[in-house]
Amino acid sequence: LKELRFENITVDNVTIPLFAQKKIELSVLRIDQLHKVVSGNKWFKLRYYISEAIEQKKEHIVTFGGAYSNHIVATAAACRISQLACTGIIRGEEPASLSPTLLQAKELGMQLVFISREEYAGKKLPPRLEDKDHYIINEGGYGRTGAKGAASITDHFFPADYSHICCAVGTGTMMAGLLNALPAHEVIGISTMKNNLQLEDAIRQLLNEPQHPIQLFHDYHFGGYAKYKPDLLSFMNEFYKTTGIPSDFVYTGKLFYAVNDLAAKDFFPTGSKLLLIHSGGLQGNRSLSKDTLIF
Ligand SMILES: *Cc1c(COP(=O)(O)O)cnc(C)c1O
Repeated sequence: LKELRFENITVDNVTIPLFAQKKIELSVLRIDQLHKVVSGNKWFKLRYYISEAIEQKKEHIVTFGGAYSNHIVATAAACRISQLACTGIIRGEEPASLSPTLLQAKELGMQLVFISREEYAGKKLPPRLEDKDHYIINEGGYGRTGAKGAASITDHFFPADYSHICCAVGTGTMMAGLLNALPAHEVIGISTMKNNLQLEDAIRQLLNEPQHPIQLFHDYHFGGYAKYKPDLLSFMNEFYKTTGIPSDFVYTGKLFYAVNDLAAKDFFPTGSKLLLIHSGGLQGNRSLSKDTLIF
C-alpha cells in the first residue's frame, strides 16, 4: 500500500470569523489527502474487506455503485494496489460515454457490468458473477467490517482535543465507526440524502452499543443525494477562499455548509471544539461544469 500517503493526513486548524465570534474552535481532518483516487473514508471502509478477501484467498472482488460512485473508483484503486481482480456492478444501462468516475475505474482494471435499475434494486448478482470464489462488498462499503475500518480514522487525531466530531453521511458506515471508536464524544452526522428515514436504523445495525443516541441532521441535502443548488456551490467557493480547503458537492460541501449554519443558529455551545472529517470525494466534482468552482 505504498501509494497511500498517511503522512499527508493533517489536522488543519481553520479560522472563520463566524466561529471566532461564537468562540468555537474549528479543525478539519484531511483524510482527503490520503490518495487522489482512493480518497478519504473509502479506503478506511475498504481496508478490512480487502484484507479479509486476501485471508480467504479470494482473488476477485465484486461490488456495486452508481456512475459517479466514489466507492466504485476507490474499490478499483484498492484492488489494483492489492493486485486483486474486481468487477463493479453499475446501476443503469451502459451510457454512450462513460462518466469520468467509471472511465477511471476501468483504467484501474475494474470490469464494469451494467444492470437495469430494477435488477440493481434487487441486489441480485448477474448469474455469471455468482461464484463462491468472489468476495462481495456491499454498495458504499456498508457493513460492520466497513465500520471497523472507519473507526481507525480516529487514529489520525487526538480525540481528547475535540468536543464534537462532525461527518457527512451516506450509508452511515463511517458515522457508525466513529461512534464505536468514540462513544463519549458528540458525533454529528449530516445526511446527504433526502428523507432517508431508514438511516438511523442502518447505523444502529453497525453499533457496538445499539442503544447509543444518534445525532443526525436531515435538512442539508439541497434537493437530494448528489443534487445541489447555487447556494451550496457559492458556499464551497467561499469556504475555499477563507480556509484553502476544497470540498465536494455530494458530501463534504454539505457537511461544511451544515456546520456553518448550525453554528450561526447557536447549536454548538460556546467553547466547543469541532473536528470536521474531510472524507474526500473531490473526484466527484468532475461532473460539474468547469466554471462553477474556483478550485
Ligand atoms: C462515501 C462518502 C461519505 C459517506 O460515507 P458513509 O460511510 O457511506 O456514510 C462521506 N464522504 C465522502 C467524501 C464519501 O465519498
